[in-house]
Amino acid sequence: MKYFGLIFAVLLSVQSVYALDVVYPKKNEVTINSPSTFFVGNADTAIPLKINGTEIPVHKSGGFAHAVKLNAGKNEFVIESGEEKHVYKITRPVSKVSSALTTRNTELPYESARTFVTIKDNVPLRSTPVDGGNNRISHYQKDIPLNVVGEKSGFYKVRLNDKEFGWVAFCDVTSADEFTPAKLLNREAVQDKNYYIFKIDFDKKVPYVIEGVHPFVVKFYNIEGKPDNTFTFKFPLKQNLIGYSGEFEGNTFVLKVRKFPKIRKDRPLKNIKIVVDAGHGGDEIGAIGCLRNNEKDVNLAIAKNLASELRLRGAHVVMTRSGDETVGLLDRVRKTNENEALIFISIHGNALPDNMDPNEHEGTSVFYYYPQAKPLADSILKSMTAQLPLADDRVRQGSLAVVRNTEALSVLIEVGYLINPSDNAYLLDKEIQANAGKAIADGVEDFMTE
Ligand SMILES: [Zn+2]
Repeated sequence: MKYFGLIFAVLLSVQSVYALDVVYPKKNEVTINSPSTFFVGNADTAIPLKINGTEIPVHKSGGFAHAVKLNAGKNEFVIESGEEKHVYKITRPVSKVSSALTTRNTELPYESARTFVTIKDNVPLRSTPVDGGNNRISHYQKDIPLNVVGEKSGFYKVRLNDKEFGWVAFCDVTSADEFTPAKLLNREAVQDKNYYIFKIDFDKKVPYVIEGVHPFVVKFYNIEGKPDNTFTFKFPLKQNLIGYSGEFEGNTFVLKVRKFPKIRKDRPLKNIKIVVDAGHGGDEIGAIGCLRNNEKDVNLAIAKNLASELRLRGAHVVMTRSGDETVGLLDRVRKTNENEALIFISIHGNALPDNMDPNEHEGTSVFYYYPQAKPLADSILKSMTAQLPLADDRVRQGSLAVVRNTEALSVLIEVGYLINPSDNAYLLDKEIQANAGKAIADGVEDFMTE
């Protein structure tokens, strides 16, 4: 009797530890509109794993990932691990490409220009009439008048001057009285400990584009008496641009350009304000790893290690969350700017869309949006790939809400892929999580002393 009980206990533990667990697709009988998808999950490492009869490698951690082609219509996949067998049914919709839709997407020029104004804050002006990609050239607050000369696929074409144009979404503007050129009235420059501050007075609000490069340039459009109605404000910076803000207060454009802080060579992060942002949290779990681990937990573990590494080096660290809380993207940015942080670092783990193969993507990538943050991204990736077993998955420009902040140097680190079995095992390794914190801090330190 005793003997039988023991066998039963062993069987039970084997069952619970080694059950075949398919993490992605998240449920059976799903519709996936893609030429391919993948199965991600975990299984017993000692038993062959088969998908439609083909043996699939299982990582020593138990994780697996396998890409499969999808035919139009119904697809069936049999996943077998020993006695266990799951049958997945995935439907790929039969595509109907409508030619009527594509032909309507041509540019329609207006016979005479029309005036519109922005109806809310943070309205993107884009270089192309597309909602997506790295095409944002400016962001406007409410009530900025725009000269519109045409339209295309849901966007108005904004004329800035004879050579420069942008695109604004229909839903972000409303028609307004015809505008007349603005007058440039006055300019004033002051500074405090941390900022150069420029106040430029007009008799009305005007569109503008901030070009955050050397020299620092802001172009104001529709200005009376200027060549091509464009007033170009130039400010030569002695050191790298690290942050700025620019917006209208009434009809006065207030531009604040951040001064590069004084660095102690022996302790370059001493008193530097850094926001450490653990991605997702609370209700937002982020990606799910092969071992059914949540991205939000991996992010928090690495973020906490990074915060303590930075504090050891004298930095003033603010975390956007220090527990399992739901925090909005704009709240993360607001907290950064309220604290006047110099640097913002967001920690994430990566996943992939259906049409990609998790076994062909691995390693760390660092995202930035504005060019002034690229050297920081480069320095962090260089340090991480030198110190961690994760591959170099490049520095990339990406239009992500948290890195589209100009007031701090803002980067987002995808430490590794949760749906790549080998990367995911690294991401869950406590020692690698600690080393990641150290490697990122080293990268920030290198950036400050360069
Ligand atoms: Zn994420």
